[in-house]
Order: sequence, then C-alpha cells, then structure tokens
Amino acid sequence: MTFDAERELVLPAGHGRAIRVAAGTLVRLTNPWGTQAVDSWAFNAHDLGEFLSMDHLRSVNSVAYVDKGVKLVSNQRRPLLTILEDTSAGRHDTLLCPCNAAIYRELGHEGYHRSCSDNLHEALAALGIRVPFTPAALNLFMSVRVESDGTLTRLLPASRPGASILLRAELDLVIAFSSCPQDITTINGADRTPRDCVIRIGEPAPAAAAA
Ligand SMILES: [Zn+2]
Repeated sequence: MTFDAERELVLPAGHGRAIRVAAGTLVRLTNPWGTQAVDSWAFNAHDLGEFLSMDHLRSVNSVAYVDKGVKLVSNQRRPLLTILEDTSAGRHDTLLCPCNAAIYRELGHEGYHRSCSDNLHEALAALGIRVPFTPAALNLFMSVRVESDGTLTRLLPASRPGASILLRAELDLVIAFSSCPQDITTINGADRTPRDCVIRIGEPAPAAAAA
C-alpha cells in the first residue's frame, strides 16, 4: 500500500479530499477563515469495515463533543486518531448527520447540490476506494450545543481565522475530509459561504507529544 508523502493540500470549498496515511503520521487541518465546518471520517486502511465511530466514541468517552483528550475510537473501540493540538473553539460536533441530497431537497433546493455524503464517496473514489455506506462524520469546527432539555442548537462557527487541529494516525488510515457545502443555513457562518481549508500531511510532533 502506498501512503501519502509529506505535503500540503487544499481542501477546496464545498468539496472533499481523502488521503492515505501510515500509522504515526501527523495531519494538520487548518481553517483559514475559522468558519468552515469540516465533516471528517477515518477508516482502517487494511479493513474499511473498521471506521471512526461517533456512537462508539460517545460511549467510550461519555461525551457529546470532541475535544483534545477524547479518544477517537473505531467501531472496534480502538483509537484511530489522537488530537495532539487544537487551537479552534473546540467542542467539535458528533451528533449531526453529514449533509446529503435529501437535506438540500428539504431545504427547497432544486437540482443537484453538493453534499458531505457525496464528497466522502467522491474523495474515496479518487483513491480507487468504494465504501457501500456513509458513517456518521466527526464534524470538526461545527458548533452545536446540547441544551439541558436535550434539544440541539446550531450555533454560528466560533473558531478564529487560522485555527487548526493536529491529528496523529494511530493505525494505517484512509482519512476523508469534506468542506461542508452548506450554503442555505448558517452552519458555515452568517454569510453562508463554504471556504477552502488546508490539509498538511506530515510534520514533526509537538514537543509535548513527542515523548
Ligand atoms: Zn455538509
């Protein structure tokens, strides 16, 4: 299996991108405007039936949000990724579904609209990979608050421009990111404009995480 070498890629606004990374590789996702929600998935590169699981990570960690220190486990309850740094507003959403064609129809859009679900499969196809299902995504940089009565409130994005999250692959992984193409609701900011993000593959571990 060939893994992505050290490099920097643009995650184009409203589109997806998948990478293959070897265990131990660091991946930094940067949000230049701070406003872009990025739906994220990870699969065991040697067994695509093992993937980052929102329901298992909520169960293992007893959390609704993802912050540094939360174990990002698979449906086999093994850590796939570790968050080494996070300069965003944190509290990354695990609860909302990746957008799909049906959501845009519900919102009144006529004709095709890009979606995070389609972006996942398009990005995997670019690597020659087909997965016959769409796992729930880890919604990085997406702000959704769980209220005391159990309802969910979709908030405006709260990260500063240039915020980033640094992840370490714990197994050989296929990782996919989708710059959410939502331009009808305000999940990507008040101006409803999807924007580019940046994926940086490979960098030295920060001093605190190197030991
Ligand atoms: Zn989306």
